[in-house]
Amino acid sequence: MNKRELAEEIRKLSDLLSLYQNEYYIKNKPLVSDLEYDRLFDRLLALEKENPELVLPDSPSVRVGSDLSNDIPEVAHTIPVLSLDKGYTVENIKEWMDKTVLRAGCPLSFVVEEKIDGVSIVLYYQNGVLNLAATRGNGSVGNDITANVRTIKSVPLRLTEAVDIVVRGEIFLPPAEFKKLNSKLEVPFANPRNLTSGTLRRKRSIDVASIPLDIFIYEGFSDTGELDHVEILRYLKKLGFKVSDKIGVFSESSDYLSDIPAEWFKGKFDSLSVYVENQISARKDLSYEIDGLVIKVNETAVREALGFTGHHPRWAIAYKFESPEGITIIRGIDIQVGRTGRITPMARVEAVLIGGSTISNVTLHNQDYINLLELAIGDTVTVSKRGDVIPAVERVIDKNEEGNSIWQIPSECPSCGVPLVIKGAHHFCVNTDCPAQIKGRIFFFLGRDQMDIDSFGPETAEFLINQGHIKGIADIYNFDYNKLEGATGFGLKKIALLSGGVVKSIGQPYHRVLASLGIPEVGKKVAELLIDTGYRDVDDLIQIAADRDVEKLKAIKGIGERIAETIVDEFSSPSVMKLIDDLKNSGLNFREEAGEEDSFVQVFDGQTWCITGSFENFKPRSLAGDEIKKRGGRTTASVTGKTTHLLAGESAGSKLAKAESLGTTVVTEKIFMEMLKFDG
Ligand code: NAD
Repeated sequence: MNKRELAEEIRKLSDLLSLYQNEYYIKNKPLVSDLEYDRLFDRLLALEKENPELVLPDSPSVRVGSDLSNDIPEVAHTIPVLSLDKGYTVENIKEWMDKTVLRAGCPLSFVVEEKIDGVSIVLYYQNGVLNLAATRGNGSVGNDITANVRTIKSVPLRLTEAVDIVVRGEIFLPPAEFKKLNSKLEVPFANPRNLTSGTLRRKRSIDVASIPLDIFIYEGFSDTGELDHVEILRYLKKLGFKVSDKIGVFSESSDYLSDIPAEWFKGKFDSLSVYVENQISARKDLSYEIDGLVIKVNETAVREALGFTGHHPRWAIAYKFESPEGITIIRGIDIQVGRTGRITPMARVEAVLIGGSTISNVTLHNQDYINLLELAIGDTVTVSKRGDVIPAVERVIDKNEEGNSIWQIPSECPSCGVPLVIKGAHHFCVNTDCPAQIKGRIFFFLGRDQMDIDSFGPETAEFLINQGHIKGIADIYNFDYNKLEGATGFGLKKIALLSGGVVKSIGQPYHRVLASLGIPEVGKKVAELLIDTGYRDVDDLIQIAADRDVEKLKAIKGIGERIAETIVDEFSSPSVMKLIDDLKNSGLNFREEAGEEDSFVQVFDGQTWCITGSFENFKPRSLAGDEIKKRGGRTTASVTGKTTHLLAGESAGSKLAKAESLGTTVVTEKIFMEMLKFDG
């Protein structure tokens, strides 16, 4: 390439990257994947490095990608608020560390922090009081979003000391919260970062307050003297800021390391790769998302001497994890009919490996989502899967060549042929006798978090439905399971277990039965709210519905107009009434005495237990599982990263070894018996 061609490519790359930055930071609707953006950015850097005379004054490499919005007041930053240089391998990072030590001309220590995947924020405190919160903006001017940031519970409005301090941090939305929120949005966001960024720019702070945003603070700038970064982080914590504890400190000086807090990792430079590997494997268990690690010079005096480029400080570098995105092609779009009749289009994509799992189906939520993406069959798209979040199509990067236009949800239910109805952003099949809905309701009823019928898994259910033995929930209790004798896979033992499980489930308490019926809006939480308020008999709800007394339900904290109206509609619908009658006739509980559901303190709430070995007090050992479930815990068959406790009896084998290697809490039968005695 001659100089003129090189200059032309550099200009094109700069223009393209500026355009991409604008769409990404301001509109929250990226045009290309991060992978593609980073590839172009790295290409520009390489060309500029070889041809420094061709670097444009406004090149994206010499300035920060701006997220400034014209709609929000601007404020000038008093500190440079920059991006980060990056590397993709531990070797890149080690080279950078060596180079930085050489540049500094003195021994250095380094701090490694998590790179939180959220939205950058700068908080200004005066006399210990928060008086400004500004976005990163273009690095020197940001948008003033103080009112919105004040609604975030983990942002301290007043510090423990009356100091003047500026701090930098990252606001994020935990993926679990994102999952919950996004499923309710008419047009969902592709990832938590986009939702966070959109939320922070909302006009009304009250709308921000309802989103459980969170923050980590990672830098502090004040006149407190010559503190190094390790001391600053400790000081920030003392002031009341939320600082991540996942910190590694690296120094060749054992003396220095001996002063580092015990909860942080400390080691010599050669332990960096082990630390990075540990952080990568621990990442999946975090309740927030990180997209890399940040390696920083600890000595603040040296930081000053090293200085900045227009884009990043020379004293820090990001180690970026492999992108959680992949590129694939939409091969088809199928329609799922949910148990409530809700239609969900599912894209069938060419299998693609993202973040360790193979993705071949991706939800498209609803027609609005498809319209927003302008998605058609045959399009090449990027799909992302961050942490625990379900895979999402982020954007179309290449239109199909067949000329397929934007895909449309058909006008009729693919299962029963009844015309679909649009309610809000979704299409619904309103035929409650639709086979797909019935199947969905049966599966839901049997589910682990609902009636949890022993030995009645999805395969058994599928078989019984397909054979026509079970046509609705009530049939689960009316079918004579002995008739299965001779059917493939149904030996006498299996039949006995199956019917035993069904009979046992008759004893499930009312709150569990109510939440298992699949009545829209009446899940576990609402069922418990209704019962706790005193509506302890299903007839109470039927009476409220008969009186159309929406107000009575709205008076319950946690039940709004929409839920109240749905309950009234559902408990007056003939199909729901018939189901309740049928199940009552089979002996299921539709009444619960006060205190019945509270008789066990939920000491195991949120915990996941695995049980192994044999026990003196629990024969069969599933009885131990029953005790755990009664107290709010879950049980699983194997030990995974999500298992919180292993109950280990006599002759516990490989599960015990696995639990020990994962650091899972191991509980003996003796301790377990003590735990069961706990009554608050
Ligand atoms: P970055 O996300 O790569 O890193 C810099 C940011 O990391 C800082 O501004 C800070 O907010 C954050 N951070 C989190 N934890 C930190 C910690 N402990 N210490 C210091 N900083 C921490 O850089 P960027 O400039 O915000 O964004 C560039 C990236 O954004 C690109 O690499 C690309 O992945 C993406 N991007 C994508 C597009 C697109 O069109 N897809 C466009 C622009 C940018």
